[in-house]
Amino acid sequence: MTSPAPRTAIVTGAARGIGAATALRLARDGFAVGVLDLDEATCKDTVSAIESDGGRAIAVGVDVSDAQQVEAAVDRVAGELGAPTVLVNNAGVTRDNMLFKMSDADWDAVIGVHLKGSFLMSRAAQQHMTAAKWGRIVNLSSVSALGNRGQANYSTAKAGLQGFTKTLAIELGKFGVTVNAIAPGFIVTDMTKATAERIGVPFEEFEQARAAEIPVARSGQPEDIAATVSFLVREEAGFVSGQVIYVAGGPKA
Ligand code: NAP
Repeated sequence: MTSPAPRTAIVTGAARGIGAATALRLARDGFAVGVLDLDEATCKDTVSAIESDGGRAIAVGVDVSDAQQVEAAVDRVAGELGAPTVLVNNAGVTRDNMLFKMSDADWDAVIGVHLKGSFLMSRAAQQHMTAAKWGRIVNLSSVSALGNRGQANYSTAKAGLQGFTKTLAIELGKFGVTVNAIAPGFIVTDMTKATAERIGVPFEEFEQARAAEIPVARSGQPEDIAATVSFLVREEAGFVSGQVIYVAGGPKA
C-alpha cells in the first residue's frame, strides 16, 4: 500500500473554472500538474498560479476530442513531468437547445468533447497507470445526467460518462487504478454564467434563485469540486471505485 513514485496529474479544461481550481488543488497536494486546455496560452494563468504557490506545472494545448493531439499531449506531460498516474477528465462545452432546434453540430460537439474526449484521454493515460500498478481517473459528470430541459446532448454525455466510469473501474481495478465520477450541481463558473446569459437573466439573480433551491443554501464553488477530486485521488481512497459522487449541496439537483 505504498504511494507510487511518480506524482504527476493531468487536468483537462484547466484554463479556468473547475479545472483550474482542481489543478491548483492537486499541485498543493504535491502533484506536478499537466494543465491541458484547447489553447496553450489560456493555460498560463493556471500554471502561474501553481508556480507562485510553489508547485510545478506545464501548459499544454490540446483538443481532447482529437486522438493524435491527445496522444501527443499525454506523451509531452510524461516526458516533461513524469508518467501521469492521475487523470481528471474535466474539459467541457455546452450547446444547449430544445431537441427540435438542436443541430447535428450541437450534438457532435458536446458528445465529442465529453464522451470521446474522456475516452481518448483515459486510453492514452492508462498505459502509465497500469505500468505503475497505480492510478486514479476522475470523470466530471453532472446532475444534468438525471435529465435537464434543453440539454439532450449534454445530459446524454454526462449520463454516458457514468457508464464509462463504472466500466473502466471494472477493467482497471486489478492494476491498482480506481475510476470515479463527480456529478456537480450548480457551480459558479463561466459555464453557468453563459447559461444565465442565454436565458436572459442577470447572473446574480440566476445564482440567488438556484441557491434558494439548494439544501445547504448556497451555490457551489470550483473549490468544492477540487476538494472532492483531492479526496478521490488519495492513497486512502483506494477502495472507492466505480462511484458517482453528487456534489450538489444536497441529495439531488
Ligand atoms: P468552463 O468554465 O466552461 O471550463 C471548461 C474548460 O474546458 C474551458 O477552459 C474550455 O476551453 C475547455 N474545453 C472545451 N472544449 C475543450 C476541448 N475540446 N479540449 C480541451 N479543452 C476544452 O466549465 P466548468 O464550469 O469549469 O466545467 C468543468 C466541467 O464540469 C465540465 O465537464 C462541465 O460539464 C462540468 N460541470 C460543470 C457544472 C457547473 O455548474 N459549472 C456543473 C456540472 C458539471 P475554452 O474556453 O477554450 O472553450
